[in-house]
Amino acid sequence: MSAGEIDRLIGLLARLPGLGPRSARRAALHLLKRRESLMDPLMEALGAVAASVRLCPVCGNLDTRAPCSICADPRRDGTLICVVRDVADLWALERGGVFSGRYHVLGGLLSAIDGVGPEDLGLDRLQARVAEGPVAEVILALPATVEGQTTAHVIADLIEPTGITVSGLAQGVPVGGELDYLDDGTLTAALRARRPV
Ligand code: ZN
Repeated sequence: MSAGEIDRLIGLLARLPGLGPRSARRAALHLLKRRESLMDPLMEALGAVAASVRLCPVCGNLDTRAPCSICADPRRDGTLICVVRDVADLWALERGGVFSGRYHVLGGLLSAIDGVGPEDLGLDRLQARVAEGPVAEVILALPATVEGQTTAHVIADLIEPTGITVSGLAQGVPVGGELDYLDDGTLTAALRARRPV
């Protein structure tokens, strides 16, 4: 490995969230010094995941199987669908371990400024999924930002005619808050105390 290749590795690592150039250099050196115990297994894991990861055609989750392990699990309650912005929020709810239903991952939020419309988020797919049943409640676990709340209102309007309950997370999610940054207890409480919207 030449210095140029090491620089390239550092440059790629620096593009990961939470890693600036300085921590990327530290991470690269850490890997270089632990080739057998860390770098080789990491390469193997990256290769395996890259080759097999796919978007769940039902809920939009990322998994190495399709439908994903949550959609395929018969123990999950199919009458409850929790709508989240992205997979990080799904993971946050799963870490809390209190939600037993299924998910719908939007992959973003409606945004006039960024030109993200209902078709970009596949809201028709969500509407069709809800209409097919056996859904009894749709829980909107979306950020308390302007875009999050706009998205929540649009989805609530879409689902309202079906008569299915639409609820939102209770107080406790900070304004501008990101689900992924909430501690598990707060998220659990917000989910348990959800209310109709
Ligand atoms: Zn799925």
